[in-house]
Amino acid sequence: MAERREWMIRHDLEGRDIRDRRVLAAMRQVPREKFVPSRLAGQAYADHPLPIGEGQTISQPYIVALMTQLAEIKSDDRVLEIGTGSGYQAAVLSNLAREVYTIEIIPALAESARQRLGLLGYANIVVRQGDGYKGWPEKQPFQAIIVTAAPEKVPPELIDELAPGGRLVIPVGAAFELQWLKVLTKDKSGRVRSRNVTPVRFVPMRSSGK
Ligand code: SAH
Repeated sequence: MAERREWMIRHDLEGRDIRDRRVLAAMRQVPREKFVPSRLAGQAYADHPLPIGEGQTISQPYIVALMTQLAEIKSDDRVLEIGTGSGYQAAVLSNLAREVYTIEIIPALAESARQRLGLLGYANIVVRQGDGYKGWPEKQPFQAIIVTAAPEKVPPELIDELAPGGRLVIPVGAAFELQWLKVLTKDKSGRVRSRNVTPVRFVPMRSSGK
């Protein structure tokens, strides 16, 4: 597995545009095979997403690395992730940030991710079951927010919870249509700018009873 991980890092990350040494080191530290169903462990480092149950998927390694690189995480940052899924992206973030808060709407996935991250010893990640559209008001502001399911529009609450100087990395678009991976930055005066990075395909962000 270590050999496959190294090959993935050289070929699929460094071989594309993942240049941030800290991001590469963080990806090197996480055993992705522990985050996928055991029958799929042999494909853990393949260059595509994998099913994780409940109709959800873990993103391909390159997309996890790209979103992490775009979030420009510093070691003192408090980071919010929406869409815990397997917990893999949260584990990568936890190697870079001071604290990671992650929200998952499907109770079974939230529970299994919490257990998995605990067993693997990730002590600076807090998993909560709930609806990510509202963010995590008690813990704001966040220096970085990463959303791993696609809403049709950027939820305004998430922009509100971004610290001045912060980055929000988010796929936006209609379900199963073209989505854009966007980076929104908030400058020190609170002005928000948005840019499109690359077309992507994420599972839709669900809204709970709205
Ligand atoms: N980051 C995950 C992959 C997530 S797939 C990983 O590393 O494995 C997207 C996840 O977002 C799914 O688990 C889905 O249930 C969750 N999700 C969808 N809508 C949501 C919402 N409104 N709030 C929180 N989580 C949501």
